[in-house]
Amino acid sequence: MNITSLGFEGFRNLCDGEITPCRGVNVIYGKNAQGKTNLVECIWLLSGNRSFRGARDSELVGFGRDAAKIKAEFFSEGRIQTSEISLIRGKKGAFLNGVKQRSSAALLGHLCAVVFSPEHLTLVKGGPDGRRSFIDGAICQIKPGFKDTLSSYKRTLIQRNSLLKDIPRHPGLEETLDAWDQRLAVLGANVIRVRMKYTERLCECASRYHMGISHNSERLNIDYAGTVPKEYCGDIGSVRDQLLKMLLDKRNDDIAAGSTSAGPHRDDLEITINGESVRRYGSQGQQRSCVLSMKIAEEELIRLSVSEEPLVLLDDVLSELDSRRQDFLLNEIGDRQVFITCCESASVERLKGGKLFEINGGKVNF
Ligand code: ATP
Ligand code: MG
Repeated sequence: MNITSLGFEGFRNLCDGEITPCRGVNVIYGKNAQGKTNLVECIWLLSGNRSFRGARDSELVGFGRDAAKIKAEFFSEGRIQTSEISLIRGKKGAFLNGVKQRSSAALLGHLCAVVFSPEHLTLVKGGPDGRRSFIDGAICQIKPGFKDTLSSYKRTLIQRNSLLKDIPRHPGLEETLDAWDQRLAVLGANVIRVRMKYTERLCECASRYHMGISHNSERLNIDYAGTVPKEYCGDIGSVRDQLLKMLLDKRNDDIAAGSTSAGPHRDDLEITINGESVRRYGSQGQQRSCVLSMKIAEEELIRLSVSEEPLVLLDDVLSELDSRRQDFLLNEIGDRQVFITCCESASVERLKGGKLFEINGGKVNF
């Protein structure tokens, strides 16, 4: 899929207008604070997502304006469609092909996109919860039913944890733990298997992109690092049995701590380059390249399952990458529609095809 025209009125600092991006790589360049990220955020909102900067709706309306309207015309499923959002005096409206939707979330899955912004570096630099939500979010995009499995697991976990906290005061409650353990093990095994399978596919795809970005010098590996040891993860039955055993073995510790120590809520992804942890040893450029490879791989896996390729939005990725890595991004991933922002005109000169947009004080020129 690709955006054929993008219009904005009263949105952040962008001057009212419209741009017509190309199908390949679109580079938006300009000095700091000119509106590059605002433009990327505008596309991301039209894909039905919430701001990747955590912005409230009221913050999106331009200073001194009382309404904002953004609209994308995009080609998908063999026809031109439209996605539109209006913000008028605190009220948000979302329209798909001119038809009003219940909420902007209803736009999800129509104009699809993956986004990278510097905040996403926490994927390698931050704690395991960020990696778990990345992988869960990515799976839900191609396997919507996984959301229900995850929610059931989380609900059961909360109930088991509250029971664990009550047991010291009411020891008779301990016998009811068996039933919760059984349920948690069944749901947990399901979550673990789905995540493991996805991680294998993600790793295969991301390591290919990483080879490209690093010009064959770096081998990226992503491994599912679970609380259930790998040798028990061959099939869902043995994951479930092992998880159940671990819940039983650790029961006394869990009661003392008032929380559950084994299960997918404690799992992580181990990301390495040439065998070394990217979080501990990776340079800034390696960490950035690694997250980028994972994001592009996420897009490719969506594309394989929904047969429409999502847009790739890359905000401020070129800084900290050397010229060969920048070349790869500018010239080798253009078989989907890409929007890249950057400050330096030197990077822009390396763009072989694609389209350039210069942004100055919110005014977009091309
Ligand atoms: P950088 O290269 O530093 O990342 P940028 O070009 O990405 O810069 P943006 O984050 O898009 O810059 O922001 C551009 C300007 O938009 C900022 O100076 C900010 O003050 C302004 N801005 C943000 N929200 C609004 C708003 N609601 N109304 C008007 N201006 C706004
Ligand atoms: Mg920016």
